[in-house]
Amino acid sequence: MADQDRFCFLVEWYEEQAARIRQFLFTYYVSTKGIEMYCIKTRKTYLKTSLKDSPIELTDLYIGSTLNILGRQIVIKDYGDVYTRNRLSSKKEKTLGVVKPDAVNKAGQILDNIYRNGFQISQMKMCRLDRNEAFEFYQEHKGKPFLDALLNYVTSGPVIALELVGENAIQRWRDAIGPTDPTVARSEAPNSIRSQYGTDKTMNACHGSDSPSSSARELEFFFPSSGPTRRNTAVFQDSTCCIIKPHAVKSGVAGKVISGITDAGFDVTAIEMFHMQKANAEEFYEVYKGVVQEYNGMVAELTSGPCIALEVRAQDAAKTFREMAGPADPEIARHLRPRTLRALFGTDKVRNAVHCTDLPEDGLLEVEYFFKILGR
Ligand code: GDP
Ligand code: MG
Repeated sequence: MADQDRFCFLVEWYEEQAARIRQFLFTYYVSTKGIEMYCIKTRKTYLKTSLKDSPIELTDLYIGSTLNILGRQIVIKDYGDVYTRNRLSSKKEKTLGVVKPDAVNKAGQILDNIYRNGFQISQMKMCRLDRNEAFEFYQEHKGKPFLDALLNYVTSGPVIALELVGENAIQRWRDAIGPTDPTVARSEAPNSIRSQYGTDKTMNACHGSDSPSSSARELEFFFPSSGPTRRNTAVFQDSTCCIIKPHAVKSGVAGKVISGITDAGFDVTAIEMFHMQKANAEEFYEVYKGVVQEYNGMVAELTSGPCIALEVRAQDAAKTFREMAGPADPEIARHLRPRTLRALFGTDKVRNAVHCTDLPEDGLLEVEYFFKILGR
């Protein structure tokens, strides 16, 4: 019985000081949330602990997931034994979701729907496709009468690509978006996403992979496992940077945060999910070092899981967005500015839902840090 309580993976850690990749067998004990890392090369137990401070949850364990273990960024590469593969592979299925151009202004609501449906979002990126790229993506529809309209439509504006993880994710996401034609969806599946946000047979709000082979191909299209990544959509003009912090992403409120931002009249012109390395978080927060008491806690929070970076655009973007974010301390925000993002979604001064720029002149620099330097 005790055996059923543990899962085993092959993981890698890029050890920065030595500039080398180390491979481990990683064992997770479900009941204690304890972990054990066994170095494959030296054949020694490298680390053994129960992580009381930042426990790894079962939901964190899927192939491609990045874990933060005592400051080390560990990436899960494969299952470590047949038992784990059999138990977890259907529970941790991956699929590609795309918010299509007509629904990008409803992205907050659609993301909220995705989280409420119990999916995890493990990768996210706003992209723009040119005609060749769109044709490559939709190659299965070559020769169909609607292809031309479809290509015009998906190249008409940005899209948001999502890697969704969950039990039977491929079929469940197809069910969540509903029938291809929104008119049919409105009569047959009124709660579906296409019913609520789709317009017509072409402009139907979302895409979902239809099989394991297409999900593998389509995820590789948007989130290539090697080689250059897709270009983001940042414009680097009249913009500032919002980071939805890992605790808020983990608690599933990212959609609500984005809705709050767009409902207030801001344009969201770039979105990308990042797994911050400690060195990058320290660099990003450098101006707070020695100035703000919470500096170390802020670095730990920003590296504790995926965060979502947004380029937010408006007149006087940095200043107006700061007002929308609210006072740094959510307790104070709840008293003084109860409708601000930090009042609504923050927990404490470190886990205060969103980062926003302090100095107006830093707004663009921070956008560049995420979308030019990290996003390369
Ligand atoms: P999906 O898997 O439900 O997205 O549907 P398909 O793979 O059959 O088609 C891909 C996309 O092409 C759809 O999501 C629509 O945007 C568009 N499309 C499909 N069928 C039609 C159609 O009969 N007419 C038009 N105008 N567009 C269509
Ligand atoms: Mg299809």
